[in-house]
Amino acid sequence: MNSPSLDFQAMTPVYPAPSVVFSHGQGTYLFDGEGRRYLDFSAGIAVNALGHADPGWVEVVRSQAGRLTHVSNLFGTEAQVRLAQDLTAHSFADRVFFSNSGSEANEAALKFARRWAGAQSREGKTKLVAFEGGFHGRTLGALSLTAKSNYRKPFEPLVPGVVFAPFNDPDAAEGIIDDGTCAVFVEPVQGEGGVNTATPEFLRSLRQLCDRHQALLVFDEVQCGLGRTGELWAHLASGVRPDIMTLAKPLAGGLPIGATLTTDEVAAALHIGDHGSTFGGGPLVSEAARYVFGRLSQPELLESVRQQGGRLYARLRELKSQHIVEVRGRGLMLGVEFDHPVADLIRRALQSGLIVINAGEHVLRICPPLIVRDDEIDEGMAILADALSSWEAAGG
Ligand code: PLP
Repeated sequence: MNSPSLDFQAMTPVYPAPSVVFSHGQGTYLFDGEGRRYLDFSAGIAVNALGHADPGWVEVVRSQAGRLTHVSNLFGTEAQVRLAQDLTAHSFADRVFFSNSGSEANEAALKFARRWAGAQSREGKTKLVAFEGGFHGRTLGALSLTAKSNYRKPFEPLVPGVVFAPFNDPDAAEGIIDDGTCAVFVEPVQGEGGVNTATPEFLRSLRQLCDRHQALLVFDEVQCGLGRTGELWAHLASGVRPDIMTLAKPLAGGLPIGATLTTDEVAAALHIGDHGSTFGGGPLVSEAARYVFGRLSQPELLESVRQQGGRLYARLRELKSQHIVEVRGRGLMLGVEFDHPVADLIRRALQSGLIVINAGEHVLRICPPLIVRDDEIDEGMAILADALSSWEAAGG
């Protein structure tokens, strides 16, 4: 591994010092400054769905950058409007608000829900329900909906009125969602919390409870959406329609974007000036996103995600280790839970040229680009198997 000679002193110390500095990427591979090749089964935390430097994406970005990159939302661009049309044509939604990240997409969802609830009732319909293991981002509103206490505690007080319910427990949700509830935020497949899939029954019960108490159901598909699970939207497997859905990570192929999708009914509560973003939905990211969305919504690509996900899942199940508790997930969003922390296993895999990441302390998360090929899966699983044996030989 190249030990970076870069001095990180000028950076705020919020990230651990990186052990590799990458110089470029191609497809499913990344390369460091010494030309060493790494198989990327993290896709930049579920971002690089088309892999690195996809030629079609590069061409779109290059050509759009040469025409128009930014105008602000004081003016319109065709790229932004067409992207919104593409997203609404393929989803439950009628309207889209663009921002620059997953956290911002959730901030917008939170504000829209508050605005909508305020229009329904004057009696403090401000309670927000989110779930244990859920992750919705690091900005203060999104953080308020994020369960992990060591992310939250140093920054309290956060947005008041958030209640965390156990994930996949319809009975507990029934005891918590009430007439004072404004919105319920849930990931159809939790990413950061350990790759936990919501059962269809759970999502259906949340829909029923939201209908019964006139609350909005918000699906955070920032990580699990846009083909990652083998369907365009992770919630399609449940047949449940949300009122709001948030997207980000892969949408613009690695350029920053967030999108908050909603219905005409919710959008009717919004007024000019209620929300905004300088960069959100600029023509460069929008054109890049139109290209990515066009690729990710192709049935052949989604079918390939299901197939490659099945292959990867089967190979993970074959791994020999007495420390594996469970292999889980859907499509190319997979997790392997171990009975102890996986940091050293991840380090060993990286040393051998495979990038995998964690989801919580005990779960190895595997989320390669959605274009991953058979031979790359075989190569990655061979490296992982070796890393696992050396990890176990060293005491796990
Ligand atoms: N929501 C989910 C489900 C996520 O996984 C993440 C990031 O990991 C976010 C929101 C926050 O996205 P961002 O880091 O782009 O703000």
